[in-house]
Amino acid sequence: MKFTQLLIPTLKEVPNDATLASHIYLLRGGFIQGVGSGLYNFLPLGKMVLDNVRNIVKEELDAVGSQEVSLGFVTPASLWIESGRFEKYGKELLRFKDRKDNEFVLGPTHEEMMVNLVKQTVKSYKQLPLNLYQINLKFRDEIRPRFGLMRGREFLMKDGYSFHVNEEDMKREFTLMEETYKRIFTRLGLEFRVVDADSGAIGGSGSKEFMVLANSGEDTIVVCKNCEYGANIEAAVRKPAVCNSEAPEANFAKFHTPNIKAIDELSDFFKVDPFYIMKTVAMRALYDEGKSEIVLFVLRGSDTLQETKACNAVNANELIDVSDAELAEVGLYAGYMGPLEVPSGIRVVADDALKNAVQMICGANIENYHFIGVSSDKMNVAYHDLIAVQEGDKCICCGGELTYTKGIEVGHIFQLGTRYSEPLKAEFLNEHGKTQPFVMGTYGIGVSRLLVAIIEQHHDEKGCKWTKESSPFAVEIIVSNAKDESQSKFAEELYQALKAKKIKVLLDDRKERFGFKMKDYELIGIPFAVVVGQKLEEDMVELVYRDGREPLAIDIKEIVDAVVELI
Ligand code: ATP
Ligand code: MG
Repeated sequence: MKFTQLLIPTLKEVPNDATLASHIYLLRGGFIQGVGSGLYNFLPLGKMVLDNVRNIVKEELDAVGSQEVSLGFVTPASLWIESGRFEKYGKELLRFKDRKDNEFVLGPTHEEMMVNLVKQTVKSYKQLPLNLYQINLKFRDEIRPRFGLMRGREFLMKDGYSFHVNEEDMKREFTLMEETYKRIFTRLGLEFRVVDADSGAIGGSGSKEFMVLANSGEDTIVVCKNCEYGANIEAAVRKPAVCNSEAPEANFAKFHTPNIKAIDELSDFFKVDPFYIMKTVAMRALYDEGKSEIVLFVLRGSDTLQETKACNAVNANELIDVSDAELAEVGLYAGYMGPLEVPSGIRVVADDALKNAVQMICGANIENYHFIGVSSDKMNVAYHDLIAVQEGDKCICCGGELTYTKGIEVGHIFQLGTRYSEPLKAEFLNEHGKTQPFVMGTYGIGVSRLLVAIIEQHHDEKGCKWTKESSPFAVEIIVSNAKDESQSKFAEELYQALKAKKIKVLLDDRKERFGFKMKDYELIGIPFAVVVGQKLEEDMVELVYRDGREPLAIDIKEIVDAVVELI
């Protein structure tokens, strides 16, 4: 295609709300256009990249037997009510009514729709297994849409759902999807890690995320310096922590601790390591139908609460902070809370690490008092994993040192079981002639978010550096001086020759200064370009690489072959 005929509205200025490199370059390079918070149009170049990504996803999925379908974007509310998610999903779910007052939802993910599709078409175990996917728009009314395509409200997702006769077959497909996703992200030229993930309120055992490593990523991932272990901070575990200093020795007693509230104050006062002090965090848990309660989460003073884990522990939709006044209303005192003698009706959850703890200090639930010499057998609480793994903690697999890195979540695969097939009564006849619900897996890829991930990993101070399979064009031809007829003529011939070889080529035939065109080339970020300039008089052109390699002078008779070879 020719630059003069394409709509490529490149911008000099940095758009004012853009901070991330990918957001800036996708806007400045004329790939996308903002239309509202979390809403974008794809311009010709952006659509080309999006289609490349989409095609890779499709090729790899089709190759392993997944079948593409396309479901409605507008979905009946009745399905969501049946699955219980009409309430549970919260405000991200955009609900609306039509003129006849029927309720609908703009699909943020399509478990209900796909289960409904299969329920009506698959009746027998003989039709299983089945893996259906689509690459379609999703809408989530995100509370904080940001970073361009990273967190949009409307975005393109690949969502796949598999249906099986039993867990074992579902797990086989899960592994197949993991391998397939790895091939997809490798073809896109991404450096990524597969990590253990939080399965959320949905439950289920296996859930893995695909994280593209980038400092700008919104997710914190915990990785081992020594082995392959990797997990989202929301799901990361560690070897139980040990404390080097001795445990205090005291008989159980109530101790006057006026105005000593924080863990470090208590640690100073009692001359005891925070490891032996219990930290009690009060949060308000929000549930369906506007229900809520105050919950106390108890952990070692040396640990930090991980909110997603805490939220899952009580099966809440969300946790929010509580004020001192709200605490006082139920007879709790900030700084003096603990798991013993709790006002009635208050739920307490303690971290697994406290299960057999002895000689602990904790708040007495009386103002200005703490208990000492506390052991966990006195505590009437539920135990869950609640802590956020810290850098320097020890790996659960090998004992190696754990560290943090940042990642962009580009994929999430899930062992679902019968979470949706049961409530939606999606059943088949098994080989013994009995009905049973489908055992399911679900698999997502953030197709439009992948554009962000590619650029976050591949850019410099001048612009994008698309990877080979994602680039909108394989090569660009830049005419140095478009007023020079011989240059324009040769560039046109080369353009036709490359097109005849089915190579995606962009010809910058604009009558602009060379420097100006070069800047646009670097901003747009096609892997390499052929510059047709003054050296043409000596029958030479120059091959320029976007990755910073030295340019190469090439004889005009050899340039087509050289380009073909590079591609
Ligand atoms: P996140 O934690 O980033 O909100 P999620 O866990 O809600 O993601 P899933 O429901 O697993 O995401 O969706 C599948 C994939 O869709 C994600 O892995 C991600 O790549 C992509 N995705 C999710 N939300 C958005 C969004 N608002 N904008 C763009 N892509 C998204
Ligand atoms: Mg989300």
